[in-house]
Amino acid sequence: MIAVSGSGIAGLAAALSVLRNQKSLLFVAGSAPTAVEIGGVQIAPNGWAALDKLGVGDVAKSLSTKLRSITVRNMDTGATLASLDLSSENYGSISRADITRLLKNEILSIGVTEHVAANITHAVQRGANQNLDIATDCGSTHQVEALIAADGPKGFGRKYINGPDFNVQTPNNTKRVAMRAVVKAKSLPKHFSQPFCNLWLGPGSHFVHYPINSGNDINLVFTLDATSAYDDWQERYFGKNLILGEICKCDNISWTKTTLPTMPFSDCWRRGTAVLAGDAAHPIPPNLAQGAGQSLADAASLKYWLGFNDINQALSGYAQERSQAVSKIFKKATISSKIMAINGPAAKARSIAISLGGSQMLNAWLAEVWATT
Ligand SMILES: Cc1cc2nc3c(=O)[nH]c(=O)nc-3n(C[C@H](O)[C@H](O)[C@H](O)COP(=O)(O)OP(=O)(O)OC[C@H]3O[C@@H](n4cnc5c(N)ncnc54)[C@H](O)[C@@H]3O)c2cc1C
Repeated sequence: MIAVSGSGIAGLAAALSVLRNQKSLLFVAGSAPTAVEIGGVQIAPNGWAALDKLGVGDVAKSLSTKLRSITVRNMDTGATLASLDLSSENYGSISRADITRLLKNEILSIGVTEHVAANITHAVQRGANQNLDIATDCGSTHQVEALIAADGPKGFGRKYINGPDFNVQTPNNTKRVAMRAVVKAKSLPKHFSQPFCNLWLGPGSHFVHYPINSGNDINLVFTLDATSAYDDWQERYFGKNLILGEICKCDNISWTKTTLPTMPFSDCWRRGTAVLAGDAAHPIPPNLAQGAGQSLADAASLKYWLGFNDINQALSGYAQERSQAVSKIFKKATISSKIMAINGPAAKARSIAISLGGSQMLNAWLAEVWATT
């Protein structure tokens, strides 16, 4: 039996990869009640390829909203700096609720061998090529062939594999936060319903909005320094912008603040017969919109490698393949997050550089990230 911990996108997709190999599954879902899933995610060509490999690409497509371009604009002046045509790319948005539900339905249709609504608290490897003993906070214990820990950046897996002191985070006062909301498309001007991913670069901040749910809703994500996210942030950042100012007039927007991960990347994804997947392995800054896509790619890789009878070969094949692939994306996402956080006079230079580079530069930056294997 193979255990998967975590019931986010990564855990569900990893659980599906186990079941696709006709292996019995212990699903350790976590003890926190399922969080309300806010808004949506953009899925790039690599994410869609992974969904296809997991056998749920068509269902996911039917629930997605095709996005036709990425448009980068200056929040202060309103000027368009660059635009990347996506009409020939597999690129779209999907609500978190939909992608979670579709993965759950697929898992349930095959059948989980054992389900535990608890957190893993301990794991002990009895010896090389031996089973792994795991224990949960509801008192249950289990002996498994392997553990795929997809329990997020603060879960058990990352500490077990990388050591308790590895999760160094930046101090609270230099953290970045995302203000997230979903609003009915009819509450905002038509501009917001266009099937584009709009990326606005502002002083020390950026704003992304795109339609989800077939254009009925608009997903809004504004990222800034934690110290600047006080009361009148909407007015301060959007007020002078003719388009974004409309958001300030909308009184029914309920924003949720999410602190963004600042944990480092480790290329060690395996300890004995435990491996990491999803944000537990790669807490990627969301600036390239790749966290969920990479989690799906982890699961597609697991699906392939778990096909090998030798579990050691399977786990090392997976850990090596994915940690190498993700390390490049992690670096790019970190650089992108720094570029998007630029403040002061350098922000002007950023705008000039992006408008000079245009779509070619965007394409060159993203092609490697979106590459499908
Ligand atoms: C603002 C924002 C925008 C984003 N936009 C995009 C985007 O457009 N495209 C994209 O691809 N990605 C995006 N992402 C990233 C994406 O949301 C994540 O990468 C993705 O959801 C993967 O999450 P996960 O399942 O690994 O972790 P989580 O969703 O954090 O799930 C972890 C799970 O583990 C469980 N758990 C915790 N501890 C334990 C334990 N000890 N034992 C068992 N279970 C445990 C929890 O209960 C939870 O179920 C964005 C992220 C943010 C913050």
